[in-house]
Amino acid sequence: MFVRDSLTGLYNHTHSLQLLEDASSRARRDGQPLCFAMIDIDHFKKVNDTYGHPMGDRVIKSLALFLKQRLRKTDHIGRYGGEEFAVVMPDTTAQNAAKVLDEIRERFSEIRYPAHPVDLACTFSCGIAELTPSADIKSLTQQADEALYNAKHAGRNRVDKFRPSQK
Ligand code: GH3
Ligand code: MG
Ligand code: MG
Repeated sequence: MFVRDSLTGLYNHTHSLQLLEDASSRARRDGQPLCFAMIDIDHFKKVNDTYGHPMGDRVIKSLALFLKQRLRKTDHIGRYGGEEFAVVMPDTTAQNAAKVLDEIRERFSEIRYPAHPVDLACTFSCGIAELTPSADIKSLTQQADEALYNAKHAGRNRVDKFRPSQK
């Protein structure tokens, strides 16, 4: 039962996708919206390089806790990769997901991690995709990834929804 990530206690990559699969089936059956969000910490390599790997780990743990505290109990939060997180948000439209995650983005950017000579501040970028009747899990994750890519390229520290016309 290796479903949890050891650093953060969040669901691991494989289990996150399993939860997405289950929640999507349920959303389809119930005719309810569902969103999938991908979060990636900005310039994280620089955090490790400048402040050391343990500080990087601290930031990852802090964001994990932050997400747990601020998202709904019914949302599923996973550590998707190194400094990447995935969130499954049942009963949530893209518009509402963006509102919630943008608030979290703003609050997270205000955290200061004590360090020398200057305290550390971190930001993240986020891409959101909403389940559509025609989309399967694979296209949903691809769409969230594409929205995240756009958020990065638009300057980072922002939350972007997938826009179908952008392809
Ligand atoms: P971007 O804003 O484009 O996302 O830039 P980035 O530097 O965050 O992206 P990149 O993918 O180049 O770097 C991710 C870094 O995250 C590289 C890797 O060493 C670090 N990393 C991955 N997993 C861990 C971890 O568990 N702990 C720590 N401290 N660092 C990690
Ligand atoms: Mg990354
Ligand atoms: Mg990154």
